Amino acid sequence: MKLSSHHFRSLSSSGLPMAKMDPGSNSLMWFRKGLRIHDNPALEYAAKDSKHVYPVFVIDPRYMEPDPTAFSPGSARAGLNRIRFLLESLTDLDKSLKNLGSRLLVLKGEPSEIVIHCLKEWNINKLCFEFDTEPYYQALDDKIKSYASLVGIEIFSPVSHTLFNPAEIIQKNGGTPPLSYQSFIKVAGQPSWSSSCLSTSLSCLPPPGNLGSCTISEVPSLNDLGYEESEEQDERTPIRGGESEALRRLSESIADKDWVANFEKPKGDPSAFLKPATTVLSPYLKFGCLSPRYFYQCIQEVQKNVKRHTSPPVSLLGQLLWRDFFYTVAFGTPNFDKMRGNRICKQIPWDSNDELLAAWRDARTGFPWIDAIMVQLRKWGWMHHLARHCVACFLTRGDLYVHWEKGRDVFERLLVDSDWAINNGNWLWLSCSSFFYQYNRIYSPISFGKKYDPNGNYIRHFLPVLKDMPKEYIYEPWCAPLSIQTKAKCIIGKDYPKPVVSHDSASKECRRRLAEAYELNKKQNGTVSEEDLKKLRRKLEEDKIQESKSKRLKQKSIG
Ligand SMILES: Cc1cc2nc3c(=O)[nH]c(=O)nc-3n(C[C@H](O)[C@H](O)[C@H](O)COP(=O)(O)OP(=O)(O)OC[C@H]3O[C@@H](n4cnc5c(N)ncnc54)[C@H](O)[C@@H]3O)c2cc1C
Repeated sequence: MKLSSHHFRSLSSSGLPMAKMDPGSNSLMWFRKGLRIHDNPALEYAAKDSKHVYPVFVIDPRYMEPDPTAFSPGSARAGLNRIRFLLESLTDLDKSLKNLGSRLLVLKGEPSEIVIHCLKEWNINKLCFEFDTEPYYQALDDKIKSYASLVGIEIFSPVSHTLFNPAEIIQKNGGTPPLSYQSFIKVAGQPSWSSSCLSTSLSCLPPPGNLGSCTISEVPSLNDLGYEESEEQDERTPIRGGESEALRRLSESIADKDWVANFEKPKGDPSAFLKPATTVLSPYLKFGCLSPRYFYQCIQEVQKNVKRHTSPPVSLLGQLLWRDFFYTVAFGTPNFDKMRGNRICKQIPWDSNDELLAAWRDARTGFPWIDAIMVQLRKWGWMHHLARHCVACFLTRGDLYVHWEKGRDVFERLLVDSDWAINNGNWLWLSCSSFFYQYNRIYSPISFGKKYDPNGNYIRHFLPVLKDMPKEYIYEPWCAPLSIQTKAKCIIGKDYPKPVVSHDSASKECRRRLAEAYELNKKQNGTVSEEDLKKLRRKLEEDKIQESKSKRLKQKSIG
């Protein structure tokens, strides 16, 4: 982690550096996230006093090109829904840039090599890109920055993907990130820009100059990238990419002032899919089609004009602060995305059961509530927060006892809003590996969804094989008598799987294992070794064998 970086430059009141540029200068605006025109300080600075601005997006083939060996359509790194969302966002950005007299220059290849080539070819004096905390970008940015400083190119890399500068919060907190939401809020205080005017529109941009030998293309289609688009609308996520769509959705959400004022999470119906219970702005925040600061100010504006409103952590504004909280902890925690070597993560001897993992991933657990959520993930790339809670808990500490990193990988691939800091942070949370430690509180895969949706409409929609199952059995179809299964045209074990575990005994076993693992972590005081985990795994297995032996003996003696 770097605590001092180029984005701590002296800033003018408009948030832009005070260095005066030569009017003949060439700027390269490197878009990665931050796919927007509004509140984009890097773009604004690129445009300032420049003769030519080159707006660039580099397609990294590893991220974008098809990988036929992956478990779902998409590239090696991302599912198709997210790739489509990104292409739609780029098309929208290109359109907006054209309206400003410019265009998006799309190039393909290893991003640092391409950008360095462009810097040389176009005689660039200043390079502007949004600061990013993700390890992928940190590594990339290090390469680019060392080249640029070697040849004297100015770099402007402002923080605009989050409300706060994670590095500053860590510094204020004495060099480590605050590890609870409350302490984060205390350290963070009010964002410095909260009541100042954010720049929300540019009226024109200097055009790109000569393109030299660089190979530029238009924004590609999925077909251009080598994908076959499914004709069936049903297969496609209803979430469309782009800044225009983000701003449309934002105004729709904030138009309902009472809804914003009374927003209270985790209240809200996770089974609502025709009109979701939350904003569904996460994919737009992930790619920066929407500025979190602009979103924040819009919520503030609503709150100013109502008598009463909810407060963080449950309010809508509080949700944005959760986002910043995870960004800060992720930035300041080495190996945040791993169990090993992660100082804030409990060391737990999870199972690596590929069959159970595949059943969960492919919506074949036999628990309709869990499987319907996993289908929504596959089809939409988005689910309600509590739905994510249920499936993450089920895979890890609730029922299947599979490593949280495996579930994280599936989410990382399939979510349209897949976000490195937030996804890892929430998997750490849900698996009781960090932040939250009440492992006795397990979501029931049967009764939790029933509270919100007793008729099982959500299940019927995402698992049509169960659409005719009577509501008495929709959450536990294996309990339906055969005559009812026949009438519903769904035989359990044939048309829809039997449950992969018995929830009662699996959750009891999970609690027992978690209790032992917590005890080990306490005893070893943060220094649990691979050997300690192996020993504990063996002990748990032996205990289990012993327990079933004595059960059998007891039954025999009763018999
Ligand atoms: C296991 C698990 C994995 C998750 N992975 C991701 C992920 O990869 N990307 C992602 O954006 N969210 C993730 N979340 C957090 C949360 O579920 C989503 O942000 C939220 O459901 C998105 O819907 P929304 O935009 O309607 O949220 P709203 O409730 O409308 O909230 C507005 C914004 O606040 C932020 N936010 C809301 N909840 C959280 C949270 N718990 N943590 C951090 N930020 C939050 C999001 O940016 C969201 O768009 C995950 C949650 C769980 C339990």
